[in-house]
Amino acid sequence: MASKRGSLVVVGSTNTDLTMTCSELPGRGQTVLGGDLYTAGGGKGANQAVAAARAGARVTMVAAVGDDGFGRASVASLKAEGIDTRFVRSKPGRSSGTALIMVESGTGENLIGVAAGANSLLSPADVDAAAPAIRRADLVLLQLEVPLAAVERAAAIARKAGVPVLLNPAPMPREPLPRSFLADVDYLVPNQGELVRLADKASERMAAERMFGTGVKALVVTLGARGARLLTPEKVWPVPGFRVRAVDTVGAGDCFCGYLAAALAEGQEMERAAVLASAAAAISVTRPGAQPSMPRRGEADRLARTAPKRDRVRH
Ligand code: ADP
Repeated sequence: MASKRGSLVVVGSTNTDLTMTCSELPGRGQTVLGGDLYTAGGGKGANQAVAAARAGARVTMVAAVGDDGFGRASVASLKAEGIDTRFVRSKPGRSSGTALIMVESGTGENLIGVAAGANSLLSPADVDAAAPAIRRADLVLLQLEVPLAAVERAAAIARKAGVPVLLNPAPMPREPLPRSFLADVDYLVPNQGELVRLADKASERMAAERMFGTGVKALVVTLGARGARLLTPEKVWPVPGFRVRAVDTVGAGDCFCGYLAAALAEGQEMERAAVLASAAAAISVTRPGAQPSMPRRGEADRLARTAPKRDRVRH
């Protein structure tokens, strides 16, 4: 169990996911009828914040919402998770981030459109306002669903204060990430698709070496049902996947990152933290939705304890 509660600052997006299921996805210009509308909290930043809070971390969220009902509901639901929302800014005249999701009932195929809204206005100045909280944190957790300038500022403040930074490079931008930014990142957690873009045709090991050259201490590549792989300059270590009945993988990566960050912030060693993250993410895929699917710490701990013991793989 947790030896202490770690404290985290998450700088990122918050959205409202509006989901409907239909028997067939519409084509261009077509209207389809579905059943009920399902509304839930989403956005990579908020999803990871909720996962970390349920893992037991003290979480402060830095984000931007519009001056509208969705924004107020997002803030209220983050607060209900015990997350500190003092640095969630309201941006007048902009809508709150919203995802429109259509899911085809037979196949699970989906169509998604995301209106970034106020997320795109999160600024370096908004991050500066949270600088004292960042300096006091055990770890800062970042993704790329808000402007890079804001994310870079958070990493720079953290680096200067000696606070470790975990970056989930999602969604990967077209342009390569600036070296000066990667120099402020300690832990990088891409999924396989993001790794391909980070690696730019290099092998996983070569990409990892390149990242270690910029100052990254560990790379954790998530591999869906197969778990993940942890790479450090010294070793490669397989993180087991947990066998579950998957019903909805939305938010699995976010659950993994939130749990990993919370466990590292507690001071857990990397391997143990990654096994816990994999167990938590496996539970999350057995439930629908992003934030509603994030497990509580007790159930994640219980599943993590069933992990096979593995030797470290040296090379
Ligand atoms: P993303 O959601 O970002 O695409 P992945 O698909 O790699 O990322 O999933 C993230 C993590 O979620 C994996 O590392 C794994 O621990 C867990 N996970 C995802 N899919 C499954 C599954 N079908 N069964 C068990 N665990 C899963």
